[in-house]
Amino acid sequence: MNIKILSRDANLYSTKRLIEAAKKRKHHVEVIDYLYCDLIIEKKHPSIFYKGRLLENVDAVIPRIGASHTYYGAAVIRQFEMMKVFSTLESQALTRSRDKLRSLQLLTKGNIGIPKTVFTNYSKHTDEIINNVGGAPVVIKLLEGTQGLGVVLAETHNAASSVIEAFNGLHARVILQEFIKEAKGADIRVFVVDGQVVGAMKRQGKEGEFRSNLHRGGVANLIQLTEEEENTAIKAAKILGLGISGVDLLQSERGPLIMEVNSSPGLEGIEQATKKDIAGSIIKFIERNIE
Ligand code: ADP
Ligand code: GLU
Repeated sequence: MNIKILSRDANLYSTKRLIEAAKKRKHHVEVIDYLYCDLIIEKKHPSIFYKGRLLENVDAVIPRIGASHTYYGAAVIRQFEMMKVFSTLESQALTRSRDKLRSLQLLTKGNIGIPKTVFTNYSKHTDEIINNVGGAPVVIKLLEGTQGLGVVLAETHNAASSVIEAFNGLHARVILQEFIKEAKGADIRVFVVDGQVVGAMKRQGKEGEFRSNLHRGGVANLIQLTEEEENTAIKAAKILGLGISGVDLLQSERGPLIMEVNSSPGLEGIEQATKKDIAGSIIKFIERNIE
């Protein structure tokens, strides 16, 4: 098969591992920087020019679209879809998953548990918003944050008020969330491919840190999921229409609560924690869909 990895950087761990796994299974593979794709849109003959060359006979693409390039990335994937190329990530699912609010709405509609969350339009009624998630302590999240930056734990009502006002003043949209204390600074990353769990790890934040992000000094360990956790992750991926996803959940007194579902989950942490060939699972997923 002829597989293209849509990635801005061929030297990233995830990209390198996908190249390796594709070659090992005797496929042709090439990394395409999707920002350099020109989309030729015309009736009956959708095509893509990449650095002056027409892309032909592509069987499948593996999109690894950065958060800041969602719009153009989704357009490139859509073009491949119009060319009848299989994509491990559908353009619609990408757009949907990048809209955190919409994703949470869809998940709850599908009966998936999430920490109680309030989204506001720069509301000045901070007291009410804080009370709506059950009062302090609360977690305040910048909607555009990643890797744990812009995630604040406000221990008191006054602290929460100040943080919300400060973000509002900067015109930064935030969500407020009930603080899940019993998660004890840990979360679980479940890697789901094609409706199956292919790996799971527990990430524990460093001492005194409630955020478990590896980028914030957290450590990852292998974990055996409960049946409920496994089913919740699989169901979340299905609701969002993701063939590949990294489902992040918190262990709470009322069962697993989903924080976020990532559509371009990194391979490094999960492969190191589980010692599993996750990249290989992704290539096999493509093979099943091309046959
Ligand atoms: P990002 O997407 O920037 O990583 P997250 O929403 O995943 O931000 O939050 C970062 C970390 O903070 C999570 O991995 C988790 O450990 C912790 N965390 C986030 N939300 C909550 C919450 N409501 N209750 C307890 N801990 C939380
Ligand atoms: N972007 C990374 C991932 O999706 C997050 C790594 C982290 O938790 O710090 O795996």
